[in-house]
Amino acid sequence: SDGDHVPALVVGSGYGGAVTALRLTQAGIATSVVEMGMAWNTPGPDGNVFCDMIKPDQRSFWLRTRTDQPLGYFLGIPVNKPIGRYTGVLDSEAFSGIRVYQGRGLGGGSLVNGAMAVLPKREYFEEILPSVDADAMYRTYFPRAMAALGVNNVDPAWFESAACYRYARLSRDEAHASGYRTTFIPSVYDFAYMAQEQANAVARSALGSEVIYGNNHGKRSLDKTYLAAAAATGRLTVTTQHVVTAVAPANGGGYVVTLTQLGTTGDAVNTKTVRADRVFLAAGSVGTSKLLVAMKATGKLPGLGDAVGHGWGNNGNVMVARANHVWQPTGSLQSAMPAVGIDNWADPAGPVFAEIAPFPSGNETWISLYLAITKNPHRARFVYNAGTGAVDLTWRTEQNQPSIDAASRVFDTINRRQATIYRSDLFGVCKVWGDDLTYHPLGGCVLDQATDNYGRLPGHPGLYVMDGSLIPGSTGVNPFVTITALAERNIEKIISTDLP
Ligand code: FAD
Repeated sequence: SDGDHVPALVVGSGYGGAVTALRLTQAGIATSVVEMGMAWNTPGPDGNVFCDMIKPDQRSFWLRTRTDQPLGYFLGIPVNKPIGRYTGVLDSEAFSGIRVYQGRGLGGGSLVNGAMAVLPKREYFEEILPSVDADAMYRTYFPRAMAALGVNNVDPAWFESAACYRYARLSRDEAHASGYRTTFIPSVYDFAYMAQEQANAVARSALGSEVIYGNNHGKRSLDKTYLAAAAATGRLTVTTQHVVTAVAPANGGGYVVTLTQLGTTGDAVNTKTVRADRVFLAAGSVGTSKLLVAMKATGKLPGLGDAVGHGWGNNGNVMVARANHVWQPTGSLQSAMPAVGIDNWADPAGPVFAEIAPFPSGNETWISLYLAITKNPHRARFVYNAGTGAVDLTWRTEQNQPSIDAASRVFDTINRRQATIYRSDLFGVCKVWGDDLTYHPLGGCVLDQATDNYGRLPGHPGLYVMDGSLIPGSTGVNPFVTITALAERNIEKIISTDLP
């Protein structure tokens, strides 16, 4: 509460924040986590905490009066609909050239994401983060992260028979028949629970079209793993619906952190300041970068270097869909958790790792949907707008062209070999590529550039960055395992050398 003095304050409760909270509390340090979103532990009038993707209500989106679905059209007709303005779980944050999707709530992106827990390819990890000892990462920190996240694998025999993965088997078989290799994707969704869903033995979540607006069952989100373990130490304090708006050095050491308490319609209920000896920024690539760029521009954190705000990328994200032949149904029942990816990363002319994504509409659509991760070289930066006080992102939609080019190599080939075509009615009218959105914001406060090699902000002792903003715009796979493992590495170092 207002005027408190705490030893350690963590801003944000996604992967970086949850790792930080667990390891600090285990080290005996009383830790306060501040999260702008809701706690998501209370059922609504329908008995569920979260809404599904077929009938999104106010719980779906962060402070919008209309949904903003990643696929905004069907048969070229807009599918978004009015909702009540509410502190919902998924934010579609609009910058001029891109919509950045992010989770809002205790657990951050883990509440809304597809649960795909993918280890980055070691060669590529060494390329993007050359200052990090890859041996230590692959020997110690990746395994530590995967264990604490509760990663599990689908039973291949069950996968072959389950109705809910017909869509994935079809896309996989088409990829193989077109000369591409595929791989199973580990997950933090409990596949044993999913098998029970398929057997009609439990309440459906992945099989109930639940994912981007939260899962009522089955998903090992951070509130059930890292954050639950941190709470069990008795040293964790969590404050939700509070947004951190400023961080500045305090007289006599530590930092003054300014918070705005939000009501469920986004109204500012209260403003508070607390003093923290140490502050760990884990507000995500966008949240942390925006805060630091604003603090630098307004002179509140004068020690920040010029690299702050730079090196942002969208992990080469681009979405695309194909129309299958009528004799190739994808199934009306689809698991919302992807289980297979097309791995064409080794193609030097255009590396692609494409997840075979569900289209869980409840009807047969014959659609094969993909989220492609590509090696897009373009980067953008966050810029403070002195006129509005807002922070903009310089990314332009055209910068996604290299991603479209790489993904085209794969999907043009599959279409040619399978005699199929692209769907052009899902991302707009006559628009093939979903190129104006990302699920994977990365960078803005890059490790060993804006911070030292462990996330410390030079010039401001006791101020750290712990989240996806440390990763320079790309990981080549879905990013949360990389973010988690890097946070494990950094917090271990910080606890052993900076904390008494
Ligand atoms: P986040 O998880 O974004 O956490 C940051 C937290 O800080 C948020 O809870 C936010 O509300 C809070 N916050 C922000 N600003 C402030 C502030 N000023 N004050 C207080 N709190 C603040 N990745 C995968 O690896 N596999 C997947 O299958 C996958 N699927 C995805 C699907 C969707 C729909 C989306 C949106 C993302 C997906 N991702 C996936 C990406 C993954 O979720 C993110 O990379 C990850 O959550 C980022 O972790 P983080 O710790 O950097 O930040």
